[in-house]
Amino acid sequence: MTRRAPGTGQWPKPTVPSTSARAMYRLHRVLEPNRAYARLAGWLESHPRAYRAFTRAEEEVKGRTFNCQMCGQCALPATGYACPMSCPKQLRNGPCGGVSPDGMCEVYPDERCVWVVAYERAEQEGHDSDLTMLQRPIDHRQWGRSSWVNYWQGRDERLWTSDDGPASSPRVCADGDPV
Ligand code: SF4
Repeated sequence: MTRRAPGTGQWPKPTVPSTSARAMYRLHRVLEPNRAYARLAGWLESHPRAYRAFTRAEEEVKGRTFNCQMCGQCALPATGYACPMSCPKQLRNGPCGGVSPDGMCEVYPDERCVWVVAYERAEQEGHDSDLTMLQRPIDHRQWGRSSWVNYWQGRDERLWTSDDGPASSPRVCADGDPV
């Protein structure tokens, strides 16, 4: 099921990120989970107004940069920092059969397929093997929530396999709470 972005209500459209993959891989190191980020994330979750403001800021920044759809479970580190949820079919494990031989999207023929973009960006930085990892189904209850907070709270750890197959059992969520 394709979903619109919660904030803008826009349907997803393939987007080439406005920043280089190299810059994003570097930034990722700064944003890696640690105790300070975990404390911040916990504090935000216990203060709804601050959480909403933080989530809006995330939506603004990532919307402009990646056309982030606010799925709440960010795949960017495994996709060359091209957002798979900006694919009109929101495919998280590679292109559909409709991508043209020259790498254009079936739904928006003037746009590059986001998975072609992802591969090119990852390959350029020596991360092409990231794209062999299988992404597990996402928890749709997380739409509209902050993926940064989820990441710092350790909820993204099993979003994808560590090899090219389902190495361990799928992520299971208890009522309302990712586990
Ligand atoms: S949070 Fe989801 S929708 Fe947003 S950039 Fe990451 S994968 Fe894309």
